[in-house]
Amino acid sequence: MPYIKIDELRCKGCGLCTIACPKKLVTMSDTPNSQGLTVAVFSDPEKCTGCALCAEMCPDVAICVFKE
Ligand code: SF4
Ligand code: SF4
Repeated sequence: MPYIKIDELRCKGCGLCTIACPKKLVTMSDTPNSQGLTVAVFSDPEKCTGCALCAEMCPDVAICVFKE
């Protein structure tokens, strides 16, 4: 089953990935991380198709897509 991993240390919280995902599986965290940034989080992993649109949109290369 495909899934993604978001690197919190690379994510700057721009939110572009939330727009890119056609299934709306990426949302922004409700609380800031240790760096004070509100980062992207992945939800409903069972619905991910592995399309990689979220990763392609990310300007900081913070998302890796796994198509296992
Ligand atoms: S790989 Fe595709 S379906 Fe999965 S989270 Fe990214 S944009 Fe959404
Ligand atoms: S597009 Fe990249 S940097 Fe922007 S919120 Fe998503 S994971 Fe973070």
